[in-house]
Amino acid sequence: MSKKKNSSVGREALLAEVQKTRVERDKTYRERALKMFPWICGRCEREFEGKKLKELTVHHKDHNHDNNPPDGSNWELLCIYCHENEHAREGVADWYDGLAPEEEERKPAEPLDNPFAALGGLLKENE
Ligand SMILES: [Zn+2]
Ligand SMILES: [Zn+2]
Repeated sequence: MSKKKNSSVGREALLAEVQKTRVERDKTYRERALKMFPWICGRCEREFEGKKLKELTVHHKDHNHDNNPPDGSNWELLCIYCHENEHAREGVADWYDGLAPEEEERKPAEPLDNPFAALGGLLKENE
């Protein structure tokens, strides 16, 4: 007599939540690092401001994005070019994670804008 609950909805919500948390976290450590350090690339020593600021990224010295000590001791501000070099040298390519979260936000989340649009399409096909 037990009704089976549709768990896929819960799972999607959970995934969305995890994704959101991740983006929030990345944004947060970047903002914190930008408040803590001068906006200068640690390698080429170029200065960044305004629109250019998104070319300045947060490098994790131990390459662990989850290691974000409040004193910023694991962070280094690097421009995207020097950052890429740094990781090419180390053979690690997972740093795109923390790069310019603004870009992601600007993308319209089409399916989420109108969750019923797809549903409406399905109903019509069944007519
Ligand atoms: Zn640089
Ligand atoms: Zn890095």
